[in-house]
Amino acid sequence: MEVKEYSGVLVFAEQNKNAIHKVAYELLGKGRELSEKLQCRLMAAVLGPDKTDVNELIYRGADTVYHVCDEKIFSVPDEIAYAGNLVKLIGELKPEICLFGATSFGRSVAPRVAAMLETGLTADCTDLKIDDDMKLVQIRPAFSENILAHIKSDNYPQMATVRYKEFEEASRDQSRTGEIIKLEAVLSSSNTVEVLEELSIEDINIADAHVVVSAGVAVKSAEDLKMINELADLLGGQVGASRALVETGLISKAHQVGYSGSRVKPTVYIACGISGAPQHLAGMKESDVIIAINNDPSAPIFNVADYSIVGDMYKIIPELIRAIKN
Ligand code: FAD
Repeated sequence: MEVKEYSGVLVFAEQNKNAIHKVAYELLGKGRELSEKLQCRLMAAVLGPDKTDVNELIYRGADTVYHVCDEKIFSVPDEIAYAGNLVKLIGELKPEICLFGATSFGRSVAPRVAAMLETGLTADCTDLKIDDDMKLVQIRPAFSENILAHIKSDNYPQMATVRYKEFEEASRDQSRTGEIIKLEAVLSSSNTVEVLEELSIEDINIADAHVVVSAGVAVKSAEDLKMINELADLLGGQVGASRALVETGLISKAHQVGYSGSRVKPTVYIACGISGAPQHLAGMKESDVIIAINNDPSAPIFNVADYSIVGDMYKIIPELIRAIKN
């Protein structure tokens, strides 16, 4: 494959009901760094209705935004239609790097695009770099976070998905200008997706919460979980959970913090009865202030905690609630 054919960094900016997912701004931040090193254009691709606010992508650093417009096709998460239209666009633009957010939708579209383009895809990258050969180094944890694999792709475009909250958002500059190119969707709906009903995920958005109070498997019943909910409510925060607690069925997966759950970066993270396994730490260690409550002084969570409270959470949490109420 002739490498020179490919140039530019393309970010897939996912939209839902015309709103761009914030992971796109994080990808543009990293994309800018990569494009400066490669001395190439930073582009964004949006597939969505006409009224999607694509200017924001220019303010966040895109030089060119390709807006494939269609009111109907992109109003449902039809991966096959998205992938087909993206493959057509990528085939014309020939970017050397394509970045997707590892959201549930991004995780579903990106592999389809990679397979149709017969190129590789590295999922859930935690960092991206350009090496001396000007190739993309895709860094991601492997073997349950015990090693960091550095992966390079032989084919072009080099494709990666990156989890939400992994990179800083690109700063916003409303005076930035760029080019917005509107395109018509070339491939119609696959008719394989029909939205019958939208279920709310209980308004849970731990990834964006400023305060997260998380519970581990030390919580034994729904009744015990009430004190965690109360503490989170009092602090205006959301409830998180370790995977071990999710697996008991006491709380839904939407609350899971960690490697296979959500990545959070709140101002305050309170870990209650969580041991601090590497897979849990992977999702919360970037929090500004970490408070850990655990009755085992040797629990690894204390290695990342700013404030360590050694003791029984069933005594400490009610005390904290009382103190806050007072
Ligand atoms: P435990 O490790 O059992 O810890 C419970 C803690 O509670 C202990 O430290 C104990 O001292 C303390 N405790 C008990 N009673 C009290 C009390 N009364 N007061 C105070 N403290 C008390 N885990 C995640 O969380 N998120 C992930 O995304 C995730 N992804 C994974 C992906 C893979 C591929 C694998 C292999 C594992 C993953 N795990 C994940 C699981 C992870 O390895 C741990 O098993 C899990 O995080 C442990 O949860 P825990 O801390 O609640 O339980």
